[in-house]
Amino acid sequence: MKDVIIVGSGPAGLTAAIYAKRAGLDMLVIEKNYASGGQVLTTYEVDNYPALPGINGFDLGMQMREHADKLGAEFLEAEVISVKSEGAVKQVVTDNGTYEAASVILAMGASHARLGAPGEEEMTGMGVSYCATCDGAFFKNKDVAVIGGGDVAVEDAIFLARTSRKVWLVHRRDELRAAKSLQQKLFELENVEVVWDSVVEQIEGSDQVEGIRVQNVKDGTKQEIAVQGIFVAVGILPNSGSICEEALKDEKGYFEAGEDCATSVPGIFAAGDIRTKALRQIVTAVADGANAVTGVQNYLLTR
Ligand SMILES: Cc1cc2nc3c(=O)[nH]c(=O)nc-3n(C[C@H](O)[C@H](O)[C@H](O)COP(=O)(O)OP(=O)(O)OC[C@H]3O[C@@H](n4cnc5c(N)ncnc54)[C@H](O)[C@@H]3O)c2cc1C
Repeated sequence: MKDVIIVGSGPAGLTAAIYAKRAGLDMLVIEKNYASGGQVLTTYEVDNYPALPGINGFDLGMQMREHADKLGAEFLEAEVISVKSEGAVKQVVTDNGTYEAASVILAMGASHARLGAPGEEEMTGMGVSYCATCDGAFFKNKDVAVIGGGDVAVEDAIFLARTSRKVWLVHRRDELRAAKSLQQKLFELENVEVVWDSVVEQIEGSDQVEGIRVQNVKDGTKQEIAVQGIFVAVGILPNSGSICEEALKDEKGYFEAGEDCATSVPGIFAAGDIRTKALRQIVTAVADGANAVTGVQNYLLTR
């Protein structure tokens, strides 16, 4: 039986692995993907991770993994199906056997909801982004579109309007869902134009985004908008599924846990994008990985 099993090897899981090895814990990381790094692998350039400006996302993921490997962290490629707490023993069921540990760190991350528009998949990283905080700086003085109508979409539009030349906010309804205070800020901005009642039909471009074709859902009219960047903000989905039904989750499916990463189940911790928090970024995920291991150590001492 391991001291701790870490589920997922994105920034949170890899940091937890590094801290667990340095704490002398008998540990195992279970990752379903052939490569570690999580969402970071899908981003071309990361420009807000301290001391590594402009690093390629794949390289950052690989470097974090190499760091954990260097310390002797143990990895298993398998998909975790469920985690159950049987008092002092946690059962981790995977598609490649069942493993036992005294504690578990859930670090399965989250996935951004996709638009489902043609061209989206091919253009991801080539003008299509799911993170304005991360990629907005690449579109300085350029025209961009934000897709969505909730808080994140409106915050993204306000954020991008500071540096981009023009921001189109494409929303499928005739009013925004975002908080009124955010809407007020948005409507005060001269370089933002809302495209109401419209959905993205096609993302145009060959090796870089060149524009979007939108259709008005009420009168069927179509419009071509030339943009170099598209920020999809139609929701983010935690990869929690039915993996740990015992632990409390919020209405969106994130595990309820504070900065100490402790869930409602003793000995089960949630780190990174999978837990309730205000900002989902690499720096906050790595902080969680470290905090979760501190939680594990305290739990192992006091149980
Ligand atoms: C396109 C894009 C660009 C981004 N750019 C930036 C940026 O520039 N700067 C920044 O700070 N943040 C950026 N982010 C956000 C950042 O990547 C995330 O906040 C961070 O990766 C979260 O780390 P995590 O370890 O919590 O989860 P993730 O990175 O999501 O990693 C979770 C890991 O768990 C694995 N996993 C999931 N389910 C299972 C299972 N059942 N069994 C086993 N393994 C499982 C996954 O395969 C994955 O490897 C970006 C995100 C995206 C999508």
